[in-house]
Amino acid sequence: MSRIASVLLPMPLPEAFDYAEPDGMDLQLGDQVSAPLGPRLLRGVVVGLREAVGGNRPLKPLEGILEETRLPPGTVEFVQWAARYSVDWPGQPLAIALRGARAPKPRPVRVTALTGVAPARPTAARAKVLEAAAVPMSPPDLARAAGVGVGVVKGLIDEGVLSVRLVEAVASFDPPDPSLAGAVLNPSQAAAAAELKAMLAQGGFNVALLDGVTGSGKTEVYLEAAAAALAADPGAQVLILLPEIALTQAVIGRVAERFGAEPGEWHSDVAPPARRRVWEAVANGRCRIVVGARSALFLPFPNLKLIVVDEEHDASFKQEEGFIYQARDLAVARGKIEDAGVVLASATPSLESLRNAEQGRYRWLRLSSRHGEARLPDIALIDLRESPPDPGRWLSPALVKAMGETFARGEQTLLFLNRRGYAPLVLCKACGERMTAPDTDSWLVEHRYSGRLVCHLTGFSMPKPKACPHCGAHDSLVSIGPGVERVEEEAKGLFPQARVAVFSSDTIFDAREARRMIEAMADGHIDILVATQAAAKGHNFPNLTLVGVVDADLGLRGGDLRAAERTYQLLAQATGRAGRKDRPGRALLQTWAPEHAVMQALAAQDRDAFVEAELAERELAGLPPFGRLAAVVVSGLDPVQLEDFVRTMAHAAPNAAGVEVYGPADAPLSLIRGRRRKRFLVRADRAVDLSAYMATWRARVRPPAAIRVAIDIDPYSFL
Ligand code: ADP
Repeated sequence: MSRIASVLLPMPLPEAFDYAEPDGMDLQLGDQVSAPLGPRLLRGVVVGLREAVGGNRPLKPLEGILEETRLPPGTVEFVQWAARYSVDWPGQPLAIALRGARAPKPRPVRVTALTGVAPARPTAARAKVLEAAAVPMSPPDLARAAGVGVGVVKGLIDEGVLSVRLVEAVASFDPPDPSLAGAVLNPSQAAAAAELKAMLAQGGFNVALLDGVTGSGKTEVYLEAAAAALAADPGAQVLILLPEIALTQAVIGRVAERFGAEPGEWHSDVAPPARRRVWEAVANGRCRIVVGARSALFLPFPNLKLIVVDEEHDASFKQEEGFIYQARDLAVARGKIEDAGVVLASATPSLESLRNAEQGRYRWLRLSSRHGEARLPDIALIDLRESPPDPGRWLSPALVKAMGETFARGEQTLLFLNRRGYAPLVLCKACGERMTAPDTDSWLVEHRYSGRLVCHLTGFSMPKPKACPHCGAHDSLVSIGPGVERVEEEAKGLFPQARVAVFSSDTIFDAREARRMIEAMADGHIDILVATQAAAKGHNFPNLTLVGVVDADLGLRGGDLRAAERTYQLLAQATGRAGRKDRPGRALLQTWAPEHAVMQALAAQDRDAFVEAELAERELAGLPPFGRLAAVVVSGLDPVQLEDFVRTMAHAAPNAAGVEVYGPADAPLSLIRGRRRKRFLVRADRAVDLSAYMATWRARVRPPAAIRVAIDIDPYSFL
């Protein structure tokens, strides 16, 4: 009897397609195959196999099995689950899962081997080479290993004592050694680690919330859990997810130290051949620890036993473009599919996770003090109404004074401002015109380093004009408000002797540079670091004793559902950088609204009171984590067609108990790249299967080709 293969293609198509399995092909689930689609042959993945029953119309046969690594069953299931949850085409998450498989293979490398021929002229240097040559490596590496010049190796090759051959540079990850000693844990760390180990030993799917203040040693604790997972099963794999590339760099170093082997590294900055190498090594089980950003969740782990989501509250875990997903939630789902343990770690957990912990769905492990001598910083508010900066400046006298004292003691300051560039707005003082992007309704941000005006939404940029494009006045453009570059300029002016650096995604181009900058800060080569959130979380800087928050109110403006929660988290993280080891730290928050609940909670260091008040408000409004939300953004080039379609869509919304649909309304960002945007917001009770509701709605409408409908389950952005 012949079989039918259901094949998913990594592209935006609504479903998998059926093909006939040619005789003798012997397909298995997860095989990568070559499938005909129209005139083309495409790479796809087998996601289903069933016996053909008579009477079906004949199906096209598959062209062949690709000589590529098979996706493990858990990965195949996860991809499909993620698509259903996010109400998107399953080819979208598959494309993410295949990103590494489609990257070019690393180029073959040359390695040496002993031929058995004896050297005509034995010398001490040659003897060292012969000894080292037992391990295959490239000629320069061999020379280095033997501690001789490369000429000695070449001589031996020329004589035929060593041969050279090309080998594929695949998957050579040193195995981690879980038996190496980690840090000696303090009693509360040891208790938390013991609970995690017990959870893993019990086996199966379980989630723990590792809730510990900044500097309490959460990393040490979860590395201990990772060691236990690796030791329990020689094939076990561990995934550690982080929200920022800069943070992956720090954790990679700690993992390498703890286990004596580099982990696999996975994020957008990893070059394609290296990506391929990690992907293959994960799939064949040779790479046992991966440290990566959110998309690492889609790697083909055959034997995943532990997933750690570090800084689990971080909004960067939400992927907002293309396939929209919340990596923290999907990590829990993947844990369930793989029967693995999941550890969510944070000093300021999301309200969702705290609620799950309160309700007993997650184990709740708390670390309430810093490790060792270290104490949490003192946090004080600077009321900008009483102590305003001079005109055209952004640092208040009180903060400047504290910076001066810190610098005089030879200690470091971090100035936190979550705004890239030099100034968030440029306007003409002659005619009042604000500089905006040509086809997007957002302001252009001035960047002094590049001398350009940049749209942070679309990436559009132009040189800063000499004259106002609107009225033609010369030298009339003025920069309004501060970004990190402007604060850097101010700090340099105030402290000409200090070494001042700026850290933001515009000034740090790749992971290596981020690592260098973090190390420079940790080693004390920087006195004042001006940073956006890219550097303000997670890192340990032993000599950093002052954190100044330039604009503590920034995140509260524009107010979306999570504005207060997010501001609290971000500022608790940023202020938490101050004071490690034996040096006490302090944090100063510049604010225009010191009476705001978030500022009060931060100053009093009373997270629990803040969380309780915030949860009570959410409960009243039926908002997450007590209810569920989904957003729909509909966009099109033609406003009339768009208006028509959103009206049709509003009529098509299914009636369901416990679901309310709001909109359509203009999105706050109503024009991006020339496309007009309208939004719906859907609120549902927790018991409602919101993904199923949205899928039903979606299936009832047929958008014209020029209209795009993007569904966002559990939205974080309300623009
Ligand atoms: P968190 O992730 O909770 O902010 P980390 O795990 O990064 O905390 O620990 C903060 C600092 O304290 C790090 O420099 C870490 O090496 C150190 N540390 C934590 N626990 C221990 C321990 N048990 N022994 C030695 N150093 C520790």
